[in-house]
Amino acid sequence: LLPRSFEYVSPTSVDDAVALMGEYGEKAKPLAGGQSLIPLMKTRLASPQVLVDLNRISSLGGIREEGKAVVIGAMTRHREIERSEMLRSRYPVLADAAPVIADPIVRNRGTVGGSLAHADPASDWGTAFLALGAELDIQGPKGKRSVSIDAFFKEPFTTELRSNELLTHIRVPKPGARSGSAYAKLKRKTGDFATVSVAAVLSLDAKGLAHGVRIALGGVGPTPVRATQAERVLEGKAAEASRIAMAAEAAASDAHPTEDLRGSVRYKKAMVEVYAARALGRAVERARGGKA
Ligand SMILES: Cc1cc2nc3c(=O)[nH]c(=O)nc-3n(C[C@H](O)[C@H](O)[C@H](O)COP(=O)(O)OP(=O)(O)OC[C@H]3O[C@@H](n4cnc5c(N)ncnc54)[C@H](O)[C@@H]3O)c2cc1C
Repeated sequence: LLPRSFEYVSPTSVDDAVALMGEYGEKAKPLAGGQSLIPLMKTRLASPQVLVDLNRISSLGGIREEGKAVVIGAMTRHREIERSEMLRSRYPVLADAAPVIADPIVRNRGTVGGSLAHADPASDWGTAFLALGAELDIQGPKGKRSVSIDAFFKEPFTTELRSNELLTHIRVPKPGARSGSAYAKLKRKTGDFATVSVAAVLSLDAKGLAHGVRIALGGVGPTPVRATQAERVLEGKAAEASRIAMAAEAAASDAHPTEDLRGSVRYKKAMVEVYAARALGRAVERARGGKA
């Protein structure tokens, strides 16, 4: 399998990349880890005439603290997130998700920005960052803007990004005291996308009531989706086992899967309930300071 011929440019700054994207317009596509784009080009499902390689732009890499947020560069590899102790301690949902994405080869090359921009409905990062309420920094010919991840995913493989814009950074709010998060993914085998996945983020007040509950589901809709009914069941309530079970049941109603090779609608909804209970249970345990 060979892609159609294309031009290749490799700018060293975001400004230069954006200028090139503006110049070539619809003909150009940014290249990040290439783990989704290159297979699409080989099968000719995508045939960009110009590849704007982002790999030499050092300002798109790295993980840093900035005020009330942790900022992750779009070119940060899955593997770097997997290995970051700072992210592991603050956002266990990311530490849970990283090692179950694809396989080690894909994780060494694939990037968090590429994953969000590609917008697979079962994207592990899409689901995890949706639960975290991330803000996405975007830069295009008209300047910079920031979009909430809640408004980012539009349809399968379609986002708020215009064809000449780059996703530059992912901004994650720092969690408060007694916060916990977790990710639970059902996959058929290593290297597979999620059949269903659930990301849960919450904090507990002094009385043990849950607040800031955000639950996201992967693989059960056209994009990663919020489980809003489930969130309402738990928000402001004591995070006890019976309440978690009720929220998990509600998450199954929030899920709108379609039947495919990974399973029937009924099976996927049942699995959402099981995995939501696991993710919520672990997030609560972590918020209490346990090891879960
Ligand atoms: C065998 C295999 C198994 C996989 N399994 C999983 C899995 O279990 N879970 C999962 O979540 N993913 C999985 N993936 C996808 C993987 O995570 C990819 O790395 C990811 O989807 C794309 O990231 P990338 O950096 O490789 O992007 P690329 O392939 O380089 O780009 C993907 C798309 O995003 C655009 N793009 C890239 N970066 C930017 C940017 N900064 N701004 C604007 N647009 C941009 C590109 O133009 C392209 O359209 C798998 C991939 C493979 C090959």
